[in-house]
Amino acid sequence: MTRMWMVDPKKMCRSHLLGEHKELHQLVGSLNKNKSINGHLDKGQVEVHNIRKRHKELVKEMKRRGYSHNSPLPKFKSFRAGKINIKENEKELKKRCKNCRTRQNSKITTIIFDVGGVQYFYDHMNAARAMEKETGISAKKIKKVLEGSAKNTKFWRMAELAPLEKEYWKQFSKELNISSVDSKKMSKLWNLIFTPNKPMLKLIKKLRKKYKLAILSNMSQGHKKWLISKGITKPFPKHNIIWSCDVNLRKPNKKIYNLVLKTINSKPEESVFVDDFLRNIKVARKVHECGIVYKDHKKFLNELKKLGVEW
Ligand SMILES: [Zn+2]
Ligand SMILES: [Zn+2]
Repeated sequence: MTRMWMVDPKKMCRSHLLGEHKELHQLVGSLNKNKSINGHLDKGQVEVHNIRKRHKELVKEMKRRGYSHNSPLPKFKSFRAGKINIKENEKELKKRCKNCRTRQNSKITTIIFDVGGVQYFYDHMNAARAMEKETGISAKKIKKVLEGSAKNTKFWRMAELAPLEKEYWKQFSKELNISSVDSKKMSKLWNLIFTPNKPMLKLIKKLRKKYKLAILSNMSQGHKKWLISKGITKPFPKHNIIWSCDVNLRKPNKKIYNLVLKTINSKPEESVFVDDFLRNIKVARKVHECGIVYKDHKKFLNELKKLGVEW
């Protein structure tokens, strides 16, 4: 059966979303073979003039959720025909499908925040310059190791997973070919990368009154301690904070997303993730949470509003 649902793709479960996409392709196939679609037109199941637009909408949502799409819609002659009742279709999907129902009824109760790039901005050059003075190695070279862009560097990954600061600073000196460094001193210098994102910190204080909040962050022990000393964890319930270095897991490993949801006892469909990296959000969306990539504060506020979040 061919049927265009035409309801908001965000409110459709995986199988109905992919199903309608497949049926659009079939519909175009029928049109190109001059097969009659009058039956579908009569039942209000297709709108020929909206096929192309609808395909675009569905593909956008498929990509947003990280599903693959490699089937451009073939050419076909479009014409005005058919009328779909979207409200009725919403009801029908709700009735037929538990997963669509959950999506339509879902209400955000939980917001899970990343730290770096979201609550605090960072610039590794600030630390690299100070470390240059300390080690005699060029700031440019140091920056590459700190941010993980140097060839074959393991420092970054190790820093986010290591339970002890000493471990990753040992790796740091190894990669830069210098004799051992004072890990306490280096940790202190590395904290120079951070500047607070004040509008975000303010917003979090407001959101905590209405929502369950949590932190999920890839962070080193040194940074973690410093951020805590700056009060970053204060608006968050004590047990709702997951640092990669404490659990030996880091984003985008799927396990850490499930771990946070389990720890804070929130359902995926009522939770939204905020992260500055698309690759981290993609995984979040796959385990069915909403996700917002944080780049611009104003845009972020709009995305929250779209999800029905209030403050
Ligand atoms: Zn397609
Ligand atoms: Zn469904």
